[in-house]
Amino acid sequence: MRASSFLIRSHSFSSLDSFSRFTNLKNRNLSVSLLAVSISILRSIVAEISAHALKDPSRECCGLLAGREGVITWIFPATNVTANPATSYEIAPEELFRLMREIRAASLELLGIYHSHPKGINEPSPRDIERAHYPDAAYFIVSPLSDAPQPVRAFSIHDGRVTELEIQVV
Ligand SMILES: [Zn+2]
Repeated sequence: MRASSFLIRSHSFSSLDSFSRFTNLKNRNLSVSLLAVSISILRSIVAEISAHALKDPSRECCGLLAGREGVITWIFPATNVTANPATSYEIAPEELFRLMREIRAASLELLGIYHSHPKGINEPSPRDIERAHYPDAAYFIVSPLSDAPQPVRAFSIHDGRVTELEIQVV
């Protein structure tokens, strides 16, 4: 039910719709995924996310994470095209669709979306919550600060509700 209301809400992006339909169909048999409290990810991918955040620590970095059967094994770094990269991120639609096609072509599933918070706490901002269009994805938020208590955190965002996910490094 949640999946179909999501599709209606995102009607302005037709190719995004078809991708969502694809991922939702794949996830339909895994209703337990809606209750997920943890997300599994390869150690090397966590390292790559952190490295991306440190490449230009004054700008938010961003990208997609994919894998199979709930384990993130691939990273797809993207370009942040927003006008205010210090405090927000935006992936250009063309790049987003290209990356999603690559994920599908490799028979992978979109499992996560990551970005960094150069200065603030690495928790979802009101804007992050408002723009969280993938209820089945884990939203990873990275801090490039050396004194961050948890430099990499992950959240599930469903209809404005935020739940922190335990990150299982495998
Ligand atoms: Zn953010």
